[in-house]
Amino acid sequence: MSKPVLLVVDDDPQVLAAVRRDLRSRYRADYTVMGASSGEEGLATARELKTRGDSLAMVISDQRMPGMLGVDLLTRCREIYPLARRVLLTAYSDIEAAVRAINEARLDHYLGKPWDPPEELLFPVVDDLLDGWQAEVLPEATGLRLVGHQWSPRSHAIKDFLASNLVPYRWLEVGRDQDTQSVLDAAALGFGDLPALLFEDGSVLKNPEPRQVAERLGRPLAAAYDLYDLVIVGAGPAGLAAAVYGASEGLRTLLVDRHAPGGQAGTSSRIENYLGFPAGVSGGELTRRALMQAQRLGAEFLVPIEVTGAAIDAGYKRLTLGDGREVVTRTLLAATGMVYREHPAAGVSEHVGAGVYYGAAMTEAYACRGCRVLVVGGGNSAGQGAMYLSRYASEVQIVVRRDLSETMSRYLVDQIAATPNIHVRTRTELERVEGDGHLERVVLRSLSDGSEVSEDVGAVFVFIGTRPRSDWLPAGVLKDARCFVLTGRDLHASEAYARTWKAPREPLLLETSVPGVFAAGDVRAGAMNRVAAAVGEGSMAVRLVQEYLALT
Ligand SMILES: Cc1cc2nc3c(=O)[nH]c(=O)nc-3n(C[C@H](O)[C@H](O)[C@H](O)COP(=O)(O)OP(=O)(O)OC[C@H]3O[C@@H](n4cnc5c(N)ncnc54)[C@H](O)[C@@H]3O)c2cc1C
Repeated sequence: MSKPVLLVVDDDPQVLAAVRRDLRSRYRADYTVMGASSGEEGLATARELKTRGDSLAMVISDQRMPGMLGVDLLTRCREIYPLARRVLLTAYSDIEAAVRAINEARLDHYLGKPWDPPEELLFPVVDDLLDGWQAEVLPEATGLRLVGHQWSPRSHAIKDFLASNLVPYRWLEVGRDQDTQSVLDAAALGFGDLPALLFEDGSVLKNPEPRQVAERLGRPLAAAYDLYDLVIVGAGPAGLAAAVYGASEGLRTLLVDRHAPGGQAGTSSRIENYLGFPAGVSGGELTRRALMQAQRLGAEFLVPIEVTGAAIDAGYKRLTLGDGREVVTRTLLAATGMVYREHPAAGVSEHVGAGVYYGAAMTEAYACRGCRVLVVGGGNSAGQGAMYLSRYASEVQIVVRRDLSETMSRYLVDQIAATPNIHVRTRTELERVEGDGHLERVVLRSLSDGSEVSEDVGAVFVFIGTRPRSDWLPAGVLKDARCFVLTGRDLHASEAYARTWKAPREPLLLETSVPGVFAAGDVRAGAMNRVAAAVGEGSMAVRLVQEYLALT
């Protein structure tokens, strides 16, 4: 296979030659660097590469070119190579236009001219973007294939597990993808064996549990030590941040998650308000970086491992894991976040994984190409989900009980209003879902006049109602009426505090009513429900853990 291409487009021959020279000096071994002197030529090159079946990893284009502006070229390149990273080259005076273009045309980055020294101003940006491209594009290249039925909850569970754990795979849908039958025949698989995971070496896992998949992929499932300084339960933004700081401070740190790293943020298609990412960042990308950072610094990570209970034993915290094993730690951080509540509408529970999905917009979006889909909920997560799905579905309807502007950030309301295939039904609720084996239609009820309407849809994505995951915590951890964990000064508000807290000191800021047990992120009462807030609390918790360890 030929090397992936980096395409540079600039009408100024000197600039074009300089960018190509710099890129070649660093990326020659793994990429072919090509050039074009106009937008039209750049577009023709991209089309030709596509026809030849070559990969295009990145397009770097000047903005001001006669005939076609850089932004227009990059927008059109996305239609040909949706995953290629797109970078605008701008003069200092054009930076405002470049930032606007990032928002409007969803570019990945802008580079100011000049970019000297390239070691500082060019290569770090390109390295980063190419890492992200490689992580996304790998599915086509690697041999891992998952064969199954679209409407099978088991297939959905494995797809979700692989995608959330950033494992590249190719999905082959029975009845839709052409080569599926020959794959089934070659591996002697019957329908009862599905979903089946086929590995590059020819081995097959039939109808596996996520844990078996993790085992087969060589992921560690048992803790390496008998005793830890810090065990973090939950690898969302709060847990990942705590793992980075815990490991970097030299604490023996273990991070465990029942499903995948990233938590709720990992399911977000585009986080626009996290510091340092002017073009936004996908939850998957942020997670990939954070996990790499935590592991590089020495944190141990186990997935999928659920913590089912915890007890205090002479000051040590003894955690029970879903597989029956135990882990002992001196301090514990609960970073288990929140989860969507079951939607109460009739028929929903029978169709979960067979057309009804909680969050999960990214895993199933591709399967929704050409379908009408429903998004239930009016929060930012619903808005992001709708925007992402609108790239694949023929129509996205958002069903919300109130006005969108009451519950969703302005930038998302504006994006939705500007997206022609998204329609918003306010003051409406999901009454029932119906279908034979998989979801086929929904019945919606108007909250204004009680009238009902039936609509044919291919999938429903539920983004409403959350509850904290706090039931596994040790007895003695005080919670508020909605089961969010109380910490620090908030504990004083609980009438059980005086009976529970026996230490001759005040609880530390993020400490629960059990000394040495901390909570951070969405699971905590009073949390801000934002990625940055969870990251901040996770980082801060480590400082408090050290303070606690110094006291004991
Ligand atoms: C679709 C979506 C889009 C969003 N977009 C934005 C955005 O653009 N900007 C923003 O600021 N915020 C956004 N948010 C909110 C943000 O993602 C959350 O506030 C943040 O993820 C909370 O982080 P956390 O670490 O506290 O918990 P979570 O992200 O909920 O992570 C908790 C983790 O704990 C694990 N876990 C739970 N119980 C156990 C157990 N018993 N044992 C082991 N592991 C367990 C879970 O599997 C999960 O991985 C979005 C949320 C969603 C759902």
